[in-house]
Amino acid sequence: MIPPDHLLSSFANIYQQPPTLIAYAPGRVNLIGGHTDYNDGWVLPVAIDRYAWLAARPSSSDIATIHALDLDESVSFNIHQLDDKIDIKNRPLPKWAHYPAGVAWSLQRNNLTLTGFDAALTSTVPVGSGLSSSAAVEVAFAVTWEAITGWQADRMSLAQLCQSAENQYVGVNSGLMDQFASMHGVVGNALFFDCRTLEWEPVPLPENVALVIADTTVRRTLGDSAYNERRAACEEAVRILSDHLPNITALRDVEVQDFETHQHLLPPVIRRRAEHVVRECARTLRGVEKLQAGDVSSFGALMIEGNASLRDLYEVSCPELDALVEIATSLPGCFGSRLTGAGFGGCTVNLVEQAHAESFAHELTAEYKVRVGKDATIWICQAAEGAGVIEWGSE
Ligand code: ADP
Ligand code: MG
Repeated sequence: MIPPDHLLSSFANIYQQPPTLIAYAPGRVNLIGGHTDYNDGWVLPVAIDRYAWLAARPSSSDIATIHALDLDESVSFNIHQLDDKIDIKNRPLPKWAHYPAGVAWSLQRNNLTLTGFDAALTSTVPVGSGLSSSAAVEVAFAVTWEAITGWQADRMSLAQLCQSAENQYVGVNSGLMDQFASMHGVVGNALFFDCRTLEWEPVPLPENVALVIADTTVRRTLGDSAYNERRAACEEAVRILSDHLPNITALRDVEVQDFETHQHLLPPVIRRRAEHVVRECARTLRGVEKLQAGDVSSFGALMIEGNASLRDLYEVSCPELDALVEIATSLPGCFGSRLTGAGFGGCTVNLVEQAHAESFAHELTAEYKVRVGKDATIWICQAAEGAGVIEWGSE
């Protein structure tokens, strides 16, 4: 792993010394298992070769000073005075600093001690596109504090502490998938993750396949309330179905056949939402089997099927996402395409034969411009390794 040049030069400029360590943590994209995470289901994220990078050097005080290079902003906060979300001059922390401060808060609540440091942050994970730039930042700070302070925690616990930082300190309601993937990425592999048991295993992706991520550049503020409505519909479905299927506690527990038998009990909208989740859980398990057997074509077909379900049953797509998927699936070398993340905008993920990836990206943007009148942003990615720390420089 080679850190970006400007991280090192900026750090030296700002602090007049080299860093002692450099941490990195990737963003992620989810291939299949859409809206299954909060139903205790399965997901298949991939850590992508786009990273949050954090250079740091311990200080002898309780102050963490962080320069966010991409924003050209810096902040200093006391690692023991985090409850009020203020800096050392009692000014409110800027929003971006809630992520590192939240990680410090969460680690210490779990009795992990911290030392202060001087740090510089930069990232190649696009911000706000649903590729989890926020989890990448959290995980980079968590592994930095671990290395600089000298304790060791297991990767999953650390991912969970980052999730608590985001849920409880930043105030964003999200599952564990993002931090899990950023922490556990495996080169060339997707990560088959059971959101209930937290068991996981790497699933190899074929070597000749690229992940092409296409951003509609559409952001829907309506996303939050619609997301909460979807979650509530799933809970309601479980409540109704559990009268007849007493052993279920989440939609993940409902077999497709049992759903078909009892679906008439559900009001129409709730029935559609639940059908998506039940079938998507089954689809994710089947997809993993296909990938494990090296059958990327069948896996791609399941991605497309899942996308139709997100569009028609779960109703979280939008015309721009639909256009991207429709165009993608007509292009040469495309195995599968689907919206990824919560929906209502954001990105699609495409599995594309490596040899076609460049021309695929080119044609997708050109045709999207013609049909939608907007400029899509495209990233061609590979499945990458999870977070790590590089010892750097001399004392
Ligand atoms: P995403 O889908 O990218 O995770 P979020 O809204 O969850 O979108 O998180 C984005 C936020 O994470 C940014 O607004 C910022 O506060 C923080 N963040 C991400 N990357 C950086 C960065 N390079 N520097 C500073 N803050 C960052
Ligand atoms: Mg995020």
